[in-house]
Amino acid sequence: METRVRGIVTREMRFKETSKILTLYTQDLGRISVMARGAYNPKSDLIANTQIFSHNAYRLHKGRSFYYINQADVVDSFYSIREDMDRMLYGSYMLELINISTVEEDRNEKLYFLLLKGLRVLSDAKEDFLKLIISYELKYISFLGYRPSLNTCILCNERNPKIIGFSIARGGVICSECRGMESHCEFMDIGLWKAMNSLLYTPLDEVFPIDISEDTMFKLHTIMVKYILDRIERKQFNSLSILDAIKRNGGI
Ligand SMILES: [Zn+2]
Repeated sequence: METRVRGIVTREMRFKETSKILTLYTQDLGRISVMARGAYNPKSDLIANTQIFSHNAYRLHKGRSFYYINQADVVDSFYSIREDMDRMLYGSYMLELINISTVEEDRNEKLYFLLLKGLRVLSDAKEDFLKLIISYELKYISFLGYRPSLNTCILCNERNPKIIGFSIARGGVICSECRGMESHCEFMDIGLWKAMNSLLYTPLDEVFPIDISEDTMFKLHTIMVKYILDRIERKQFNSLSILDAIKRNGGI
């Protein structure tokens, strides 16, 4: 039986001489494993539509352990992500997030469309990558079911609280009154709170004009990485370790 799906290549692994095992994130099936036979053969029809980041329309059939490709057409190659080191590293982070935090064949259309839009905006972005990434992180974790609570204190439910912290464990802001009751709390002032709020609710392609200082962005990104790792029960992101190493060595 043939299945037609649209999907994004989120991981590729060489298999034997000329084949590839792909991870696809698809609209209808969520994350699936696909065997692309002969994809490394220079004459293969599958070269373009088995590239990492590419968005393709596939006709698949299901085998015992994998799906197999009957036919595939490129929808968008996202070539400009692969040709720029910054874009590629941040794009790899988007792919890693989806690879390690989703369950095989667990459909989540919101995540699919977020990834697709994230890659589209990233492929056109010239700078300000971190702003885009924080907005992506906030939306991503929300669509996984863990939207941070930003409008009331997570402990006392006080509305319009004087915010002084963010609790990773509880997933929300802590007011000045409750600060003493929470042992582990990330510092968060009104500037950080405003930036977090606007990056959560502004569409990805509209975040660039938002005025946020570099210092605020680094702090927010640090909080988001800790929060996401806590929720998906992981220790680190490989893609971010590479990015950090490059930044430490004086940039790209
Ligand atoms: Zn409180």
